[in-house]
Amino acid sequence: MTRITSKVVLGASLLLSVLATTPAMAMEAPTINGSRALRGRVHLTFDDGPHPSRTPRLLDILKRHDVKATFFMCGNNARAHPRIVRRAYLEGHTIANHSETHTQLTRLGRAGIEREVMRAHEALTSALSGAYEPHHFRPPYGSHNRTVREVLGAHGYINVLWDTDSLDWQLRNRRRITEKVLREVGDGGIILLHDIHEESIMSVPAMIEGLRANGLELVPTIEALTDDSGAPAPRTLPEAEVIPVTAGSRGKVNASSLNIRSGPGVGNPPLGTPLPGGSQVEILIAQGDWLQVKTADGREGFVSARFIDVERVAEPVAAEPAPAAAAAEAPRAPADGAEDRVREANAASRE
Ligand SMILES: [Zn+2]
Repeated sequence: MTRITSKVVLGASLLLSVLATTPAMAMEAPTINGSRALRGRVHLTFDDGPHPSRTPRLLDILKRHDVKATFFMCGNNARAHPRIVRRAYLEGHTIANHSETHTQLTRLGRAGIEREVMRAHEALTSALSGAYEPHHFRPPYGSHNRTVREVLGAHGYINVLWDTDSLDWQLRNRRRITEKVLREVGDGGIILLHDIHEESIMSVPAMIEGLRANGLELVPTIEALTDDSGAPAPRTLPEAEVIPVTAGSRGKVNASSLNIRSGPGVGNPPLGTPLPGGSQVEILIAQGDWLQVKTADGREGFVSARFIDVERVAEPVAAEPAPAAAAAEAPRAPADGAEDRVREANAASRE
């Protein structure tokens, strides 16, 4: 009797612990892979970007042809190139989630899936200053299972696959990519391409012309495959969120080259040769629109903050107050002088 009771109690506590650890008692996200509901409609989707040079060129092509598409972006790429995410959004394209690191989600447990989905969600939402939150997800490699769909469902996502695979990553030939898509696409087709490959970008103009010549309409959103919704209304974004800059933050030059100057302002003379695009700098302190930086070759000077993408640093973990004895044993100053710079930065920011 006692044994039975304890089993019941054990069962109940197991159930409770399951309830406590699975907030995703959620329904599975709906999965779509094209739609035959309305005739003659197709939609272009581009995965794996944003790519620093190819995605902007693709955006130019789409604008020239007046086509809106969906971009399934990886969180780590979006974090590296937030301006491209913003541009795609402002030009009417749908910003969508393709996981943080493009890992195969079915190899992960629920917590790992949750992390991959939500880190990318955070990167995309933050690039768009919170003005838009993605709700279309495409699992890397199209690989999904019930747990993936439950995590997506818990966060309000739709699981979007495709029905027309360009195999662009394999063909790597613009004519063959275009021909394969035109041969295979039909009513309600969702066309899979990748904006990280040169040949994929180059295949797009002829593909658009061919689809139109075949009487297919390129609809502006995935939803418009099945309903009569038109192009999204004109969009605006608030100024990009200013990522807090603290001594020791790092940043990357987002212009083709950037002068490093002796003081904050274009009136100050440049110090030596300009920094090439993509250079990493250490940020010493922000002064309005200018950053005091240290370059990899050891120069210290000022650059315009507009041309530096600041890397978001992880939230500092609040340090436990060190016991007096441990503090006494701590080294007095780090060898690299980081502490001095922090002190200088703090002193300057008080002025
Ligand atoms: Zn992918």
